Amino acid sequence: MFIRVNIEKCTGCGTCIDVCPYAAIIIKDDKAFITDACTLCGACVESCPEGAILDERGKEVEKPKDFKGVWIFAEQSQGKIASVAYELLGIGRKLADELKSELCAVLFGESDEVEELIKWGADKVYYVNSSDYTYLDDDLYSKTLVKLVNEYKPEIILAGATAIGRSFIPRVAARLRVGLTADCTSLEIDKETGNLLQIRPAFGGNIMATIICPNSRPQIATVRPRVMKPGEYNPSKNGEIIKIDSLKPSGKVKVLERIEDKSFCRVNLQDAKVIVSGGRGIGGPEDFKMLWELANLLGGTVGASRAAVDEGWIPYAHQIGQTGKTVCPKIYIACGISGAVQHLVGMQSSDIIVAINKDPNAPIFNVATYGIVGDAKEIIPLIIKKLKQGVSEC
Ligand SMILES: Cc1cc2nc3c(=O)[nH]c(=O)nc-3n(C[C@H](O)[C@H](O)[C@H](O)COP(=O)(O)OP(=O)(O)OC[C@H]3O[C@@H](n4cnc5c(N)ncnc54)[C@H](O)[C@@H]3O)c2cc1C
Ligand code: SF4
Ligand code: SF4
Repeated sequence: MFIRVNIEKCTGCGTCIDVCPYAAIIIKDDKAFITDACTLCGACVESCPEGAILDERGKEVEKPKDFKGVWIFAEQSQGKIASVAYELLGIGRKLADELKSELCAVLFGESDEVEELIKWGADKVYYVNSSDYTYLDDDLYSKTLVKLVNEYKPEIILAGATAIGRSFIPRVAARLRVGLTADCTSLEIDKETGNLLQIRPAFGGNIMATIICPNSRPQIATVRPRVMKPGEYNPSKNGEIIKIDSLKPSGKVKVLERIEDKSFCRVNLQDAKVIVSGGRGIGGPEDFKMLWELANLLGGTVGASRAAVDEGWIPYAHQIGQTGKTVCPKIYIACGISGAVQHLVGMQSSDIIVAINKDPNAPIFNVATYGIVGDAKEIIPLIIKKLKQGVSEC
């Protein structure tokens, strides 16, 4: 609870309206109401002659009990479980072990890969095996997950910050009236309180914020694909698959046809082992051709900084960073990219980072495994030439 009006005491005198610097108080039916514009500045509290405005910011709210276990939402497409589910099982296993609780996966839609979730770390899978769940139906997905939460009471729910997760998980949080932290880059357990520490970039990536939901359960967070590493695969691990009855779709949404978008990205950036990425320093759209050539020689694909995308040199689908994709290839070659924090959050988990930049003080060198100071337009053609001659001559 925060700042609220005790309606019983309010006489509707309007004194608080003049005091509020944010015009956050309205009078309706002779009673004061605090709107969403409230910044919790507290200025109105003392102004009320009736003592009707209550500041409950520091008030202890009892944490709901009986919530136990870590859940991950395992999304699927055409029966194939998305790789982000295995990444969530990796971090989910760690959190569950720290909390000494079980790790469960929730899977909606028909799939032959249910057992895989157990081998990748789940103790249980709540499985709705129904063709009604083949494609995302926000209403159906959120109602089903809420029903499961109310029945089994998990303490933590993790989902991918994917098109599916971003679409229906906020509805789940809203229906349960609990918080949701989107796009977490790290998740930990507070050893003292047992709360989930949900860590994510804030203020344009300039700080890392730790968000907690101490007074409500479940704690819900989304994590972008490729941010967490998958856990251990144990082919002999056993677990329980609990079949859950499907709910009836509302019929508000009907998927008529599924059309795959093949207009860009010859290789899926998030699955690529090698990414050659270009920034403003590359110079123009024509110069991206040499990046494609290098990427093709290395069996990879091409990424870009936002500056290059904003210039219109390459489509947005290739953008890597805070407002683009998060990638984790074996090799990331950053060409003419300065290394702004918003770019780094999307690629700094790559196994090997090679930076080519003519400025020796460019921040990209702080995260680079190998740095080459020089003109990318001279260096890349040389690398291409050497690769064409044969690796042995390099
Ligand atoms: C809310 C927000 C979200 C953002 N999201 C993203 C995001 O998702 N992804 C992202 O990338 N950015 C993002 N940005 C923008 C980010 O802050 C930077 O502006 C952007 O990453 C800079 O791109 P760049 O490194 O290509 O360009 P610049 O910063 O202009 O750097 C160009 C670099 O190229 C070097 N260079 C120049 N010529 C050559 C040459 N011939 N050879 C070698 N090196 C050369 C220069 O020394 C320089 O270091 C975001 C910003 C905000 C505020
Ligand atoms: S000052 Fe107090 S009594 Fe007057 S309208 Fe505001 S809340 Fe009500
Ligand atoms: S706490 Fe501040 S912003 Fe909120 S209603 Fe009172 S005066 Fe307005």
